[in-house]
Amino acid sequence: MTEAKRKVLSPSYLKTFNCIASACENSCCIGFNIRIDPETFSKYKVENDPVIRKLFEENIYIIRSSTAKQDYITINPTKDYRCPFLTEEKLCFLQCRKGEQYLSEICASFPCIGNIFNGVLEKSATLACPEAARLALLQTEAMDLIEVEEPDDTRNFVYNLLNTEDEIFQNKPAKHLSELREFTWSILKDRRYHLDDRVVFLGAFMEEVDRLEKVSAVDRIPDLILSYTALFTDASAMKDITTIPVSPVPRISLFLPPAIRVILPSIESDRYLRCFSKFLEGIRFYASTSYTQVGKCYEEAYQRYYSPFMREHDYILENYLLNYVFIKLFPYDLNGNSVYYSYLLLAVNYALLKMQLVGISAYQQELTVDTAIMVIQSYTKAVEHKYPILHNLIQALKQNHLDSLAHITVFVKD
Ligand code: SF4
Repeated sequence: MTEAKRKVLSPSYLKTFNCIASACENSCCIGFNIRIDPETFSKYKVENDPVIRKLFEENIYIIRSSTAKQDYITINPTKDYRCPFLTEEKLCFLQCRKGEQYLSEICASFPCIGNIFNGVLEKSATLACPEAARLALLQTEAMDLIEVEEPDDTRNFVYNLLNTEDEIFQNKPAKHLSELREFTWSILKDRRYHLDDRVVFLGAFMEEVDRLEKVSAVDRIPDLILSYTALFTDASAMKDITTIPVSPVPRISLFLPPAIRVILPSIESDRYLRCFSKFLEGIRFYASTSYTQVGKCYEEAYQRYYSPFMREHDYILENYLLNYVFIKLFPYDLNGNSVYYSYLLLAVNYALLKMQLVGISAYQQELTVDTAIMVIQSYTKAVEHKYPILHNLIQALKQNHLDSLAHITVFVKD
């Protein structure tokens, strides 16, 4: 009998992914609150093994909320933020004892995240996993999308299930999400322009999409895509973006202080805290140094280390963004925010990552592939994954009127 299969769309790097388990330098069993899906919890409730039963009683909690719908079940991490089922050898006790099928959906699937978009299962990996980050970021062709087949009974953690024909999207940009995603993909992949310029151009486009939504004209999105595609291929029109004069000083004085205020108190990971401290030290961001002096350090590091490294490895941040937009169904926002808000999240992530890479290169007096992976992976796990942190940063920018495209351009463009 032939095994039933289903089609999956995924970036090519996923084909070669294998968890490196005990050899992993930043295991997913450390630093996350792990939720358990109701189906797995039903299995756990009738567990007979007295050792496992006791562990469950001590470590699994139901978090009650005011609406029963939002109740959830979680594994309480230890004081040092480890999963209590993680052994000394950095292996999962439950998996060793009962097999992979016994794990919750997220534990069995991590780092893969699924979305069902217009009936098609899309799968990619979060770069919070170091091994996935290496595969996704260090190969030029890693983000080529391929169609593969998997057995029908493969367990997946499905984050989003979205159909653009759904009635609720009739007056929303999500009605044209297929076209918006395709357009985003083509802009971010087009290496004729510097990645900074591609990000700024995408912002100009998303601002227009937002405007169309406000005047109830989302059906003009396909035309808007056509006109922006023509603009993008016209190098003279793109000069409005490519020749914008830049300086790191306004970025450091306007963007960095709110970013530090929001991010620093939220950091729970030592690994990321070390990266963040090196970044600030690298650009000499001290109370006693002026923004002009910090800007000078930044500029020197940018020219001496960051820029030559990125000339050779420009695909690293490009792949980061492509993976980001694929996994998040960008510019869709699960929380119902506008497409421009989704864009702000993307741009702020990009700006923060760039600044940290520049700062760390100043600290280490070099930028290497290993450092780039460590910064991107630890940032993804400690900040990008924790939606409230970036949401609060965007609110802080909004309150100070720093969320316009003109400001974002200053924050992302070197
Ligand atoms: S983070 Fe990735 S490589 Fe490390 S243990 Fe988890 S799935 Fe495996």
